[in-house]
Amino acid sequence: MKKLKRIGVLTSGGDSQGMNACLKTIVSTAERKGYEVVAFLGGYQGLLDNKAKIITSKEAELYFNIGGSFIKAGRSKDFLDAEKRKKAKTVFNKQKLDALIVLGGDGSIRGACDLEKLGLNVLVIPCSIDNDAYCTERAIGFDTAVNNAVNTIDNVQQTMRTNDRILLVEVMGRECGDIALYSGICSESDIIMIPEKKQKEEKIVREILKQLKAGNKSPTVVIAEHQLNVEKFAQKIETETGNECRSIVVGYIQRGGAPTMQDRLLAIRMGVAAVENVIDGNFGYVISLTQDHITLKSLSEAINAGKQFREELWDTFLELKRFKTVKPHKKV
Ligand code: ADP
Repeated sequence: MKKLKRIGVLTSGGDSQGMNACLKTIVSTAERKGYEVVAFLGGYQGLLDNKAKIITSKEAELYFNIGGSFIKAGRSKDFLDAEKRKKAKTVFNKQKLDALIVLGGDGSIRGACDLEKLGLNVLVIPCSIDNDAYCTERAIGFDTAVNNAVNTIDNVQQTMRTNDRILLVEVMGRECGDIALYSGICSESDIIMIPEKKQKEEKIVREILKQLKAGNKSPTVVIAEHQLNVEKFAQKIETETGNECRSIVVGYIQRGGAPTMQDRLLAIRMGVAAVENVIDGNFGYVISLTQDHITLKSLSEAINAGKQFREELWDTFLELKRFKTVKPHKKV
């Protein structure tokens, strides 16, 4: 019997919705093209430890529309050690791999760059709920995470508005404020705090007072994590405004749930592209979304890609706010 060619896969760093859809696509495409797929469990650590198993499309299809990663994701300290990292090459050869496809974010792309330096045939599919893989317009998982944040904000706003309370919402994205920016705009929130546009607490308090004065009794502030302590800030706002203020941290809800249509589609397109490039012998790339087309970016180009902040979206938000001054209710 002819020996099958082999592709390795792993999911590294934080998990994101759509990783499973992408794995399913990789496996089914690979099987059709005469490859078998070896999964390393738990990211780069699984690769170093040769914790591996063959995955089939029959198994992968069970997880297609489920968040998380059925081959486990994770972070690896050992992998940061250049000496220990060499083990990856030994395992790659031992498993007789033709290529390794890494699903992960910015850190994982840096890791893949190191693997390329060791001489491994590697490709990366960007997965990140924060959207902080700057070599692509959108990473797999971002759309679902933002939708989860929007749904949560919508739900909480209903009770806040009923009770005339100010709402503070902390969302993920310590270095990249995309979840806060997109969810803030789409939930019609009044104030957005993101790392790309640093604003002092005092300025936010002044803005809230302005909103209250204009008749908006329940302003919503969406805050990207790690800028301030939302609970303490809520207390400060209560003291300074005399109005009730509540804070919530959306947290892991952002990571969970079925991937949206956008994330499934991106996962499918990128998964197919990755296998096709393995077959064509193109290695050392990140599969990227550029002007809604699937393109290749070299790993070195990818790690040097600057932050692509959507300035025009921030301007849209400011423009929306300008027209959103609420008139006080008329007394009847
Ligand atoms: P993500 O890929 O989601 O950004 P991390 O930043 O945690 O997640 O990175 C995932 C893993 O990639 C880390 O646990 C580490 O093993 C590896 N990694 C991260 N940064 C680097 C780096 N600068 N060089 C080599 N490997 C890295």
